[in-house]
Amino acid sequence: MTETQPKASHFIDGAYVEDTAGTPIPVIYPATGQQIALVHSATDAIVERALISAKRAQKEWATWTGTERGRVLKRAAQIMRERNRALSILETYDTGKPLSETLYVDATSSADALEYFGGLAGALTGEHIPLGQDFVYTVREPLGVCVGIGAWNYPTQIAGWKGAPALACGNAMIFKPSETTPLCALKVAEILYEAGAPAGLFNVVQGLGDVGAKLVSDCRVDKVSLTGSVPTGRKVYAAAADGMKHVTMELGGKSPLIIFDDADLENAVGGAILGNFYSSGQVCSNGTRVFVQEAMVEPFLRRLCERLDNAVIGDPMDEATTFGPMVSENQMTIVEGFIAKGQAEGARLVYGGGRVAREGFFVQPTVFADVTDDMTIARDEIFGPVLSVLSFKTEEEVMARANDTQFGLAAGVFTADLTRAHRVVAGFEAGTCYINTYNDAPVEAPFGGSKMSGVGRENSKAAIEHYSQLKSVYVRMGDVEAPF
Ligand code: NDP
Repeated sequence: MTETQPKASHFIDGAYVEDTAGTPIPVIYPATGQQIALVHSATDAIVERALISAKRAQKEWATWTGTERGRVLKRAAQIMRERNRALSILETYDTGKPLSETLYVDATSSADALEYFGGLAGALTGEHIPLGQDFVYTVREPLGVCVGIGAWNYPTQIAGWKGAPALACGNAMIFKPSETTPLCALKVAEILYEAGAPAGLFNVVQGLGDVGAKLVSDCRVDKVSLTGSVPTGRKVYAAAADGMKHVTMELGGKSPLIIFDDADLENAVGGAILGNFYSSGQVCSNGTRVFVQEAMVEPFLRRLCERLDNAVIGDPMDEATTFGPMVSENQMTIVEGFIAKGQAEGARLVYGGGRVAREGFFVQPTVFADVTDDMTIARDEIFGPVLSVLSFKTEEEVMARANDTQFGLAAGVFTADLTRAHRVVAGFEAGTCYINTYNDAPVEAPFGGSKMSGVGRENSKAAIEHYSQLKSVYVRMGDVEAPF
């Protein structure tokens, strides 16, 4: 039996702490609608404790060698892997995502980040720049205290993706999970502490948006990394700008997935399924505008519907289940609203479109055809299991249409013509692109968006740039030549 009620709401300075004066936040299991835990939003006193301890811990942590820091991160990764099943069950309670997913992409992905950045920590150096007999050397320094603010779709992964590079570079982090999924990040904090991180180095405070806002505007905070929607991103970016803080913004998308008529049909359908229905469609980089070349449209739709019949919708704790509920009742209502709009605006509903007749927040995998560029379902991020098929004739036409969006998170192409694939990718206005696949996100590769989808990159060596800064030191070997 998994204990879903945490020992206390927050993890600060190496211990669980509670302050019941904070607004209560009930935690709901999306598969049943039942309350499984209760936490409290952080009060000012809790936020203060988190800031004070993070500041203190960061000073100590920055004196450790990179190899010593890396050792802690790698030990945390190992603990996480050893506890993968328990962590995955908790992630399923927190989000409703089926265990068949959480066992493979949540704690394991967080562990990948801890392992990868743990390995890099000892290799973070500056450079030597010769200037005749003088020289400049650079020192890669931490930023200080970083704030991580998470969305609700991948709570364990997001905490790891933000925490691992931050800590590897010598920073401390205060992480605020989404109020919808407050449970998993506490485990990340617990494990990092157990692995040997100084108390206070990775704190978790719960809260609604106002707690995030308080953290972002505090002068002791040096960097803010948000995963969330564009409207929240705008607010957080503006608040961070006021204090000239560093930012990483991982925001929403409405990404195009282009399928040419020479593509392998099975693989293209598989890519579209991964890019629309994994995690019940609650993935920021999803390729929700599926542009299919005219001759391929009907075969594509036929095969897609056949394969959707194989989805096992049901109890997320049953490992045979492959499709779970929406994260919350609110998200279910939002998705239903989009489906109704799609029908009202004239799109052809070819699959799903309704709720699943069982308790919890289940929406059927849904496919619309005959979608046009101006329809709401083709323009707005839905964040649910709704795939739109748009047909196209030529490469030139589809490229213009694919890029005609404020977002630029991801984009994909399926074709047998590799020259065309690279040409298409070169033309995509998006940060994360795929050729003959969709939605892979290994820690070794940079992940992030362009245009309104974000600023900065997570994962890979690129993340180091976003969690450290360079100090240049000019060294003169001879006399100083002053004008007077
Ligand atoms: P939100 O933007 O609603 O919230 C994101 C986080 O920001 C939450 O923790 C939220 O707290 C907090 N927050 C809200 N207002 C403020 C504020 N003024 N100052 C500081 N923090 C604040 O996103 P969702 O949680 O609904 O997640 C869905 C969105 O996230 C989608 O748009 C999706 O595309 C995007 N996303 C992007 C990813 C990427 O890597 N690019 C990955 C995953 C999701 P609270 O929940 O308590 O309101």
